[in-house]
Amino acid sequence: MSRTRKPTAPPSTPVAPAASAAEATGAAKAPLSRAQRALIASRLTEAEQLCNDRGTLLTPLRREVLKLLLERGGAAKAYDLHDDMRNAHGRVAPMTVYRALDFLIQMQLVHRVASLNVFIACSHGEAASPDHSHDALMLVCTRCDKVVEQAAHEVAGKLSAELVERFGFTAQGIEVKGLCRECAAKQP
Ligand SMILES: [Zn+2]
Ligand SMILES: [Zn+2]
Repeated sequence: MSRTRKPTAPPSTPVAPAASAAEATGAAKAPLSRAQRALIASRLTEAEQLCNDRGTLLTPLRREVLKLLLERGGAAKAYDLHDDMRNAHGRVAPMTVYRALDFLIQMQLVHRVASLNVFIACSHGEAASPDHSHDALMLVCTRCDKVVEQAAHEVAGKLSAELVERFGFTAQGIEVKGLCRECAAKQP
């Protein structure tokens, strides 16, 4: 996973064949089960509702970016989403994907995990506070690069408050590095 980002292609450049692009990332998507598709559909409906409640719009493009992220199991690099977008819809400027991600981050439907430079779909949907603002707590496995957002607002909230109080530091999402359960179990 050390692929460097491809230079931005001008709109007139022919799109690379879909299959080779997916293979190059080494992150081809596994086929989704019916249950997974149903779950994604309900997450998208929740996201639409949430945007409506906040007086904004989950446009078809923003919805598509969120859908592709969910289809990747919830976490992906921006250029992987761009590849998915091109594979599904042909030519799309990378900036289009970034803008959609920015919007989704603002809505807290997506979080950016700075330590891995990946984006992850928020895992608690409307279960968060009514305005859907929350302190995201990300557990980042340093061995398999898996990221899990835990619905541990209490832990994250306490830590955030403590950081402000003691160090005057305002946390914007908390990322904890370590080993996931599976990797810890494999430890010698
Ligand atoms: Zn979240
Ligand atoms: Zn792991």
